[in-house]
Amino acid sequence: VRLFRRRVMGCMEVGRLLQQYLDGDLDAGRAHRLEAHLEDCRRCGMEAETYTQIKASLERHRREAVPRDALDRLRAFGERLAQGVEPEMP
Ligand SMILES: [Zn+2]
Repeated sequence: VRLFRRRVMGCMEVGRLLQQYLDGDLDAGRAHRLEAHLEDCRRCGMEAETYTQIKASLERHRREAVPRDALDRLRAFGERLAQGVEPEMP
């Protein structure tokens, strides 16, 4: 049990790595330990949730900011792909 405890990630380390974790930049081993900490530690769990919400709202905002004609071109590109037509790059 003591050996396991020593390998558990501390709050400071979680705080330092959280951003990378949410961006998917963390290696599997550390991501796993970070997840274990988030499950045990309410404070960090809530912080992770806040980060996730901020990140989601930023991404939503970014999507809305995409110009309409760019979206139309992308859609046309996808439709040509679906029809098996060799598409030009949008
Ligand atoms: Zn914590």
